[in-house]
Amino acid sequence: MTPAQAAKLITRFGKSIFDRRLTAGTSGNISMKVDDGWSMTPTNSSLGDLDPATMSRLDTNGKLIGGKEPTKEAFLHRAMYEIRPDCAAVVHLHSTHSVAVSCLADIDHHNVLPPITAYYVMRVGTLPLIPYFKPGDLKLADAVRALAGKHHAVLLANHGPVVAGTSIEAARKVVELILKEFRQLKEELVPEDELRRAKDHLKGSLMLGLESTSSRMSNLARQQMYFGRFFSLDELVESIESVTAGHVQQIAQQFFDQKQIALTVLGNLDGFRIAREDLAC
Ligand SMILES: [Zn+2]
Repeated sequence: MTPAQAAKLITRFGKSIFDRRLTAGTSGNISMKVDDGWSMTPTNSSLGDLDPATMSRLDTNGKLIGGKEPTKEAFLHRAMYEIRPDCAAVVHLHSTHSVAVSCLADIDHHNVLPPITAYYVMRVGTLPLIPYFKPGDLKLADAVRALAGKHHAVLLANHGPVVAGTSIEAARKVVELILKEFRQLKEELVPEDELRRAKDHLKGSLMLGLESTSSRMSNLARQQMYFGRFFSLDELVESIESVTAGHVQQIAQQFFDQKQIALTVLGNLDGFRIAREDLAC
């Protein structure tokens, strides 16, 4: 991405963040990785009123090479990029509710928020709290570095969140990790406790599904179409319980085959290509 493209995107996202009241006044800052360094919001600027022409441009050493002086919190961004090579953008805000949570006395420092929604678990995972440091104290960057390897989002105590976003290159890594799991399923037996968890989860969702008329109906239709008969809940539970780690391995060997697996990737893929040879598992 060129600095000009990044400056335009930062201006657009900045306005969207400001309009949604996620940060106020001149607080909050955004940066994006560009071809030869970073584009970053200037110091004392409002995210609601950025100008692409004056966006700070930093070289790969963090030296200012164009635009206005960058945000005084540039060191927070640098800490994230340093530890997370796949990081393409960083957003730091003083958003009201996050700041409020970061000021609470009795929160779990390893994970500030409980997993309230599935979306939160998916997008944030666990959110650790970084202790309070006075404004401008560079020890804050060390504290961010210490946690950035395991977390793409951290909450600064009495201050606000710092969140790193990944780039398109991360999609390739995700595909590689999934294929590695497939290989493992083919080569090794799944551990007993994992199999137990999977069975319990499956039985739980089967029973919950019975509470919805539409899922009951589609279940009946599926059974009729695939097997020509209806299976009672007892029969299904019994079949689930009879599955062994050996069965799982056998099925994995049958289905996880480079020639027949299909891959679906959603999003702005920007030239992202995966060949069938890359799907070896
Ligand atoms: Zn701040």
